[in-house]
Amino acid sequence: MGYDLVIRNGRIVDGSGMPAFSGDVAVKDGKIAEIGKFTGAADRVIDAGGLAVSPGFIDNHTHYDAQVLWDPMFTSSCWHGVTSVVMGNCGLALAPARQGGGDALLRMLSRIEAIPIEALRSGVDFSWETIGDYLARIGRKLGLNVGSLIGHNAVRQYVMGDGASDRAATEDEIAQMREIVRQGMRAGALGLTTDKNPNHLNDAGRPIPSVAAPEEEFLALCDVLGELGAGVIQTSAGGGKHVPENYAMSKKAAQRSGRPVVWLTISHRWSQPDVWRKYLDMTEQGFREGFRAYPICTPRRNNTRFTMKNAQIFDGLPSWLPIMLKNDAAKLAAFADPATRKALHREAVEATDPTTFSRRWDLMYITKPALAKNYDLKGKSVAELARATGKDVLDAFLDLVVEENLETAFEINQTNGDDEAVGQILRSPYTVIGLSDAGAHVVFDAGYGFCTRLLGFWVREKKIMSLEDAVRKLTFHSASVFGLNDRGLLRPGMAADITVFDPDTVDALEPEVVHDLPGGGPRLMQKSRGIHYTVVNGTVLMEQNEHTGAYPGQVLRTPAYQAA
Ligand SMILES: [Zn+2]
Repeated sequence: MGYDLVIRNGRIVDGSGMPAFSGDVAVKDGKIAEIGKFTGAADRVIDAGGLAVSPGFIDNHTHYDAQVLWDPMFTSSCWHGVTSVVMGNCGLALAPARQGGGDALLRMLSRIEAIPIEALRSGVDFSWETIGDYLARIGRKLGLNVGSLIGHNAVRQYVMGDGASDRAATEDEIAQMREIVRQGMRAGALGLTTDKNPNHLNDAGRPIPSVAAPEEEFLALCDVLGELGAGVIQTSAGGGKHVPENYAMSKKAAQRSGRPVVWLTISHRWSQPDVWRKYLDMTEQGFREGFRAYPICTPRRNNTRFTMKNAQIFDGLPSWLPIMLKNDAAKLAAFADPATRKALHREAVEATDPTTFSRRWDLMYITKPALAKNYDLKGKSVAELARATGKDVLDAFLDLVVEENLETAFEINQTNGDDEAVGQILRSPYTVIGLSDAGAHVVFDAGYGFCTRLLGFWVREKKIMSLEDAVRKLTFHSASVFGLNDRGLLRPGMAADITVFDPDTVDALEPEVVHDLPGGGPRLMQKSRGIHYTVVNGTVLMEQNEHTGAYPGQVLRTPAYQAA
């Protein structure tokens, strides 16, 4: 039999976690045909020359819902060995959407995930109404495979309109929401997501619909997945005390539906340096009790870049949040006002309660001063600036922010700054690795390279786990949790999503600014090194970091999918 593609002489890391071995992988009709040694005919032969050959990586936590419409290559994921992405996370999605009602969904996506609204408005045409229509629309042209979760916000907004942020749903409205979830799953959605972060407000200062919804409403929607026997549930709720609250809800969702739940998140936080261990214990106990509630974690050290024009890091502080929602002029006035500063100081400097802001002013760096006279501040921490000027840290910070008209660029290490803790989190059998948030906060932060960082920094340099285990976490593990039953392993009959990479060089590179958003706005892009080929559904998509021009991606659909 002639093959379409044979990848020869690879070190096969098959995604199962079993020991790697040398061999060839043969592909036919988009699927893995055989694994072993082949000398027969093939339309194309790639000599892997001892490089690792693994299943394509799965990015299970993205916000590409809008970007997929103008960028079917999912840049920058395509440069990191990723062959499948999952979007619709954190309750945010662009379907269902009523005629003329889409802008509310765009504004939510813009506010919560910091994607410029101008780009969203010029890049999203809402030529769909149902989840099925949306999946059909995005399926027209795809470089990578993409699956979508159903966002609680879109469903609630669709059914309740203007009331979605203000009141409980009636019985009839809950029945309508349940029907939308059922139809969405039948159309192929991979599951259901919500966001219960009380700091997530819309631009009118009201909670977004999923936050306004009582817990029981979300659980009633999760029950639909239980009835269908399909789909994953994803939940998020913000940091601090909201993590155990969200876990309690996630546990109920998993127990009632029997479906796997992925919840946000376990990370190391400077504000609560030991809490990750408590959360891992809590998770392990849940598995002992018999339900599947996986915390998601990231191999990234989360350095958040921001300007005070659009920053989310202070959103957990009650005096800060209303100011952060104001326009620039009102922000400047508030930051200059001594009485306001007192309240801000109490929460961001003096307080010790756990919150999402680390209060580590020594880890907040000035990355780009706006005024020429301040250029020598580049690279200094706010704490250093305070010492040098003899000011209090908050005054030093806000004086600079006001002087530079909110344009100073900062970077702060919020989470995952302790390598020892993060290594243990990543190694845990209970954690799902992902959380790139690709497609979100595109101007300030680039998390696309979570997989190349895991392989480069954590496996090669830190040696926290074997290459086989890391690949398993990036492939089979995610495929299993998200119901991608024909992916995530190199086995005959599985979809031929394959990544060929060099374990000795693979790594994520520093992000760079490009101006390619719809309307020409800037965003961060991130490339990698050491990824030699990616193959999607049997077709070579990327070759030495260049797109081959092929668009072999497919919409990933749940096993509950019923072809129309
Ligand atoms: Zn998210």
